[in-house]
Amino acid sequence: MEKEKLRTIFNKRIKKLLIDAQAKDELFERFIELFNHGGFKCAYCNRRMGLKWGDNEISFTIDHVLARSRGGTDNIHNITFACQSCNSMKGDKDAGWFAANVNKSKVRKQKRELWKAIKKRKQDKRTREAFKDIFEMVNVKRENGSKKA
Ligand SMILES: [Zn+2]
Repeated sequence: MEKEKLRTIFNKRIKKLLIDAQAKDELFERFIELFNHGGFKCAYCNRRMGLKWGDNEISFTIDHVLARSRGGTDNIHNITFACQSCNSMKGDKDAGWFAANVNKSKVRKQKRELWKAIKKRKQDKRTREAFKDIFEMVNVKRENGSKKA
């Protein structure tokens, strides 16, 4: 991809950062270097990231290593590139701790979601069973009705 296009995408993503033009250029150089050398991976979970928001690509976000809520600044040494899910899961947690634990917590999250889905399916089955008689009665009435007509 052309550098100009990349710059446009990059600028959109960093527009909220309070950094001067020189810092922006420096951060962009880092971005380009990572991107062009195939190492554009999330700083925490190490998954490869893309540029767009979408289902197929993991989009990159700008992450503050030390969260703003804990006094982290927009200084470019406090900025890293992370995938959206890591960024939102990290919140104001310590970056080092998060990096060490992110894959564990992602697995836990997946397990929780799977368990929820199983539970829901069981509930749906129970609902169907609980109302089975009523459903059958309704169906019988309908069948009888249609026979009469
Ligand atoms: Zn990630």
